[in-house]
Amino acid sequence: MLNIKQYLNSEFCLECKECCRFEADIWLPHLLKADEKALGIACVKAKKSSESSLICKFLEEAEHKCRVYERRPFECALYPFLLVRRNGDLDLVVHLGCPYILNNVNTKEFEQYAEYLSQALLEPDNFKLYAQEQDKFHSYPDVELFLIKKNLLSNR
Ligand code: SF4
Repeated sequence: MLNIKQYLNSEFCLECKECCRFEADIWLPHLLKADEKALGIACVKAKKSSESSLICKFLEEAEHKCRVYERRPFECALYPFLLVRRNGDLDLVVHLGCPYILNNVNTKEFEQYAEYLSQALLEPDNFKLYAQEQDKFHSYPDVELFLIKKNLLSNR
């Protein structure tokens, strides 16, 4: 499993309740081989929420808790940061749809965390999780993203 310090605290996320619910299933986590092994499945499916939007099938809707939190996929552990594949490169970005990020992206604290994360993703135990499976990552063309590190792997 991805080994990084989390940027957001869980209290904020549990109040916000935007994650793991989506309009389109492009936001479902794309599983890497390590995720498939940990979860024993080949893909994560969506189901209808009580409000009829989509939610991840692992989301406990009433409590807004992930039922597989300790084994959650790489992309879930990384979010609201994302690895995106663009023009053959794997870029590290952050999703401005996260309200906490939107309010903090210009702070020193964010800048320091972004630098930490860029390095942490290149640590051998993290790197081996995704480096051979770059084709699994998407480009999210119509999503508001903030670029942190272009072509992350060139920094290794
Ligand atoms: S696996 Fe867990 S963290 Fe990931 S989208 Fe589903 S409920 Fe959310």
